[in-house]
Formats: sequence, C-alpha cells, structure tokens
Amino acid sequence: MEGIQSATQVTSWLVSGRTLFLLLHIVGIAGFAYIVARRLVPLFRAERDFRFDQPLLRMGRVLKFWLGQWKQPRYKTAGIIHIFIFAGFIVLAMRAFTVLLVGVSETFVMPGFSGRAGELYNTITDYAATIVFLCMVIAVIRRLVFKPARYAVPARYGKAHTADAIFLLSLIAILMVADSLFAAAKAAAQSQQGQPLEVLATFSLPWILQSVLASTALPTLGRLYFGAYLLHEVTFYFLLCYRPFGIQFHVETSLFNIYFAKLDREILKPVRWGVSDEHLDQVKSFGVKTFEDFTWKHMLDFYSCADCGRCSDNCPANAVGRPLSPRFITTKARDYSFQHYPMFGKSGNGKSLVGNIYSGDEIWSCTTCGACEAECPLLVEYIDKIVDLRRGMIDDGNVPQSLQKPLKALESRGNPYGKMEKKKAEWTKAKEFQQTCDVRVLNGNGPAETLYFVDSITSYDDRMQSIGRATARILDHVGENFGILGAAEKDSGHEVRRFGEETLFMALRDHNVDAIKASGVQRIVTSDPHAYNALKHDYKDVPPVEHISQVIAREVKVGKIKFSPVENKENVYTYHDPCYLGRHNQIYDEPRDVLDAIPGLKRVEMNRSRDRSFCCGGGGLMLFYEPKEDQRMGVKRVQMAAEAGANVIVTACPFCMVNMEDAIKVAGMEGKMTAIDLTELVDRQMSRDGKVAHETEPTMAAAL
Ligand code: SF4
Ligand code: SF4
Repeated sequence: MEGIQSATQVTSWLVSGRTLFLLLHIVGIAGFAYIVARRLVPLFRAERDFRFDQPLLRMGRVLKFWLGQWKQPRYKTAGIIHIFIFAGFIVLAMRAFTVLLVGVSETFVMPGFSGRAGELYNTITDYAATIVFLCMVIAVIRRLVFKPARYAVPARYGKAHTADAIFLLSLIAILMVADSLFAAAKAAAQSQQGQPLEVLATFSLPWILQSVLASTALPTLGRLYFGAYLLHEVTFYFLLCYRPFGIQFHVETSLFNIYFAKLDREILKPVRWGVSDEHLDQVKSFGVKTFEDFTWKHMLDFYSCADCGRCSDNCPANAVGRPLSPRFITTKARDYSFQHYPMFGKSGNGKSLVGNIYSGDEIWSCTTCGACEAECPLLVEYIDKIVDLRRGMIDDGNVPQSLQKPLKALESRGNPYGKMEKKKAEWTKAKEFQQTCDVRVLNGNGPAETLYFVDSITSYDDRMQSIGRATARILDHVGENFGILGAAEKDSGHEVRRFGEETLFMALRDHNVDAIKASGVQRIVTSDPHAYNALKHDYKDVPPVEHISQVIAREVKVGKIKFSPVENKENVYTYHDPCYLGRHNQIYDEPRDVLDAIPGLKRVEMNRSRDRSFCCGGGGLMLFYEPKEDQRMGVKRVQMAAEAGANVIVTACPFCMVNMEDAIKVAGMEGKMTAIDLTELVDRQMSRDGKVAHETEPTMAAAL
C-alpha cells in the first residue's frame, strides 16, 4: 500500500510490524490454549455423563438453539439485542481471522473473497461492526441506567458481576471501533492519494470514521492505521484469554453446551451413569457431595451460563422468597471451580458443597417444576443437579425433619400418609358413587384392558377422592373396560425419587411394576400428572400410559363425550398447567380443547401459562415440606388468575387442587374464586343421554 505503511511494514520500538504481530499471535493463541486446558481439568476429574449419542439430532438442536437463537426472543429487548450481537459475531468471525493475518501477510485475502464477493462481504461486515458496536452501547446503558431487576444479585448470593459485564461489553465495543478505524484510515489515505478506493458501507461506523478523517494528514493516518491495528490485535487476544475467567466464557462454550444438552429432559439422571440399578449397591456414595461429583456436562453448564437471570426470573421458589435462585446455583459453582481450579498451582480440595456454597434449605426449596430449564437460552440443566445434591444429602442422613415421617410411612405402608393398604380402594365405596359406577379391583376379579392408576393422594385424601370418582365415571361413560389395583398399588414414588431417595423409589417402582404386569392390562390411565410422569419416564416395561385429559380430549373429538352448556354464564375460567403435565410432558392443548368444547364456557389465559406456567407450590412430598418463604406459591398463582379476570381455576392435578384451594383461603378469596379439577368439571358437564346423572360432589358444587 502506498502513502501509508502497511501494518507489517511499520517498525516500532525496533520491532517490525510483522514480527510484532507474529509474536502477538503466538502469545495469544498459546495463552488461550493454556487457559482452556486448565479450565478442562475439573471436567476430566468429574463424573461420567453419556452425551455422545444421536449426533444428527444434536446438530439439529445446535442449529435451532445456538445458530437460530431460538429462546432469545422470549425476552424481547434483551433477546433482540443478543440476536444482533450473535449475528454480528458470526459475520465478523471470518473478517477477524482475515484482519489477524493481514498483520503478518499484508496481501492476505480469504480464498473466494477477492473481487465482487469480497466487496459484498466487506459491506456486510461494515454494517455488522456498526450494529455490534451500537448493541454494546445499548447493553452498557441498560446495565448502568435501566438496571433490569433480573441482573441484581441479592447479598446472600454473593457479589454482582456488573463491573465485569460492563468491562467485557466495553472491550467488544473497542474491538469494533479499532476494526472500523483501521479500515477508515486506510480508505482515507487511499482517497487522498487518488488510489482505487476500498468502498466503505454508507452510514456504517468505518464510513463515518473515514468522513471524519478525510482531511487528516497522511502521516497521522499512517499512525492511526497502525495504532488501530495494534489495538485490534491486543483487544482481540485479551478478550480471548480473559473470557474464560467470567460470564463471557459462554461465547466459547455455548455451542458445545447445546450440542451435549440433555435430549430427554423428563427422564431423571441415573445415580451413576453406566451403573445399572442391580449394581447400585456397589456405589460407595450416592449423589453430589463435592464439586467433583458433578458430571463433566454439569460443569460445562457452569462455564456456559451467561448470567442473564432468566432462570431465576421464572423460578417460583425465587418469586416467593424461598432461599433458592437457580442462577446462583450455577454462578456459585462456577466461582468455586475458578477458585479451586486456579490457573497456576494445585487444584481441587473435595470440600462438601452443602454447608459451604449451598445451604440445605436452598436445595430442598426446589419443586422441580422445570421453569428454569424451559427458559434458559443455553439449555443449562438444574433438576438433575438439584436431585443429585439431594441424593448426596439423603446419603449422609441429612433429611429435613418434616420429611422424615412421610418417608418412613412410604417405606412401611407404601404411601406418605401412613394409611392402611387395605383402605386404598375406600374411595370407590362412597354410597351414591357405587350405585352409578362399580369400580373393579383387579386382583382375580377378571381381566381388564385398562388400569386406572390412582396414586396416594387421590386414594386417601378425602377431598381428592372426588377426582378419583369423577375419573372413574368418565372412563365408565366412554365404555372403558377398566379396573384399579387397590391395595396392590403403592405410591408411584415420583416425588420420592425427586427428593433423592433412589433406593426407596426403586422398591416402590418394582412393586408397582410387578402388580401392573400381574393385572394383565394393556394400557394405563391416571388422573395424576406425577404418577403419569413416573409411569411414563421412570418405570420400564409397563403398558403405555395416558393422562385422563388426553383420554377425554380424544373422546370429545370422536363424539363419545358431549357436554351440556355451563349453567352460570357469568363464570370466567382459566386453566392452570400442572408442571408435570405441561412443561415436563408438553400436554398443553388437550385440557384446553376439552374446556373449549363445553358450550358457554368463557376461558381466559393467565399471563404465565403453558411452558411459562407458575408452579402451584409443588406436589408430592412438597406438601410435607415447610420451606422458608415470604408467600405461598399457590397464593401468587391465585392472584395471577384473578388478574387475568377469572373466577374459576381449572387444573388437572390433585396436588394443584390442594394448593389452589388452600391458597384461595389464605388469600381471603373465598366466594370470589374457586378451583376445580378438569375431571370434576367434565363429569359435571357430560351429557348422559337420559341416564341418571350422578350426585354432584359437594366440593364441586361451589365451583359451578
Ligand atoms: S425447577 Fe422450578 S423451583 Fe426448581 S430451580 Fe428450577 S424454576 Fe426453581
Ligand atoms: S442458567 Fe441460563 S437462564 Fe439462568 S442465568 Fe444462566 S444462562 Fe441465564
């Protein structure tokens, strides 16, 4: 290049540009390789995790969640900014590579990028650099001025990383300015000398800078050109090497984190990958106790979290003031990892995590609702980690006081209430019910095609037995040849497993599997989403299972179930998605289709619905756990229903019913709001074609 020296030619501090930049490349790349190698040390010491299957499916997810930034628009402003930054980075990646090489080989051009293709690419990169620069400015202003609440770090969770985030955003902005200045100085020099111009994109940052520099003297342009190039190189390598020390490490790790993300999220992680249930007795220690007990993928999650706070923003435990905020489960582990696996010196010390970086209450506060995982744009996993931490605590005999009794009862009686097994089918014996619907217990009373798996709460809780009777009447109405296991059915063990009691879960599961097989049924129906999830994902070798809402939706479609119009036309209904029906099993439409098929029923959606549904407070053993919290989750949910303009909450889970009905009382909304299970509503509204209608359950009457 005439007029000004190319970056390779400049001699500064007695070192030629080419040597200086070659040295920078070597130091930068070697430094980055060393840092990444050190960051990988804990991953090599971690537990196994099988994530190498189904490469095509995994690649598809990379295209969707990484390249396609699928989850980003769930938060509009931040999401759109992130998409622009990400797209800008992708476009600029090749330019950065070209610019890096220009320092050692001034005529270097990326193959295929000379001529028109190169001009077009340069125009795109000019705009990309401008957009990324502007996004950085907006992001810094957002963090400093608007301060979105989800970025805040309460004192109990450690110190905020705001300064770090702003520093990194500023560095990226500097990188964009340096790149643009480099191009602008070169173009300005070419223009002054009447040489063929490298055209800069109109109104782009390089174009603006070129306009500013138009009348700058050539020697100054030469210094600016070299200075901008040097700044670009130093900033680039500094960023590369600094990112693995903070939240920006996700730039490097996110692609791998998404590739290796769990494919079957509803299936809980085994106690140890590669160890079958039969060999679990050989495992010395269950769960996660020290950092090294996490799997390598879970450690990769810690590195990949962008600290965006979306998980915590959606976490019901965090919303009601429980001592749990999922984001900090990650950031505390990452800080621990950085501290105990330093760049130099000895690594790791095997310290117990609970009691040091996590509190017991924090780990027990989770309802395993899955809202955090549904929201995370980087597919960071939480439920498996929390369950693993609980397994570790249970293994150490560290069980919350309030859970000890139900766990013992489950062990001895097969249900958390400690009720007699022989009373399991008592709900079928209610007088008016028995007259209209005879429920068979499948122990030698002839075969049945379908098993209604009732589970503990619907069998034993006086109020929830109404759901059992409604379900039985619906199955009877559609001509299903069904029966129940009665005393032979034990608790599904769904919550037991999620509370970390794997051995007890296995005992309950094995008992139920034997009983189900012995009954000879072809399929299973349940009205309890927790039982549904257990039978579908935690059990093996059992017949296919459906939730009753799926059965009802199908029968409505084929015309076997018809509805009479709702009596009270003033009522406004809203559907609350139970976590284990919606988020964990994607059954969102069937219950809504059923409601919409009832003539005259007015339905509204709550702001948080479908995969953003707000947990009612947790099912199963959560009913026995007394968390520290400012407010009940159910109360918050009932308020959301009221805000949506509803006065009847319909749900499809007995645990949701317990929580909703309690919450209505606690919130002082009795008389203004009622809750009803989908089965109860369907049972009440079903047209019975001249047959004698059942007696309305007293608990349902209020809702209708
Ligand atoms: S699973 Fe639910 S309760 Fe648990 S951390 Fe995630 S959002 Fe919070
Ligand atoms: S885990 Fe995911 S959602 Fe939560 S802060 Fe990290 S990146 Fe954001």
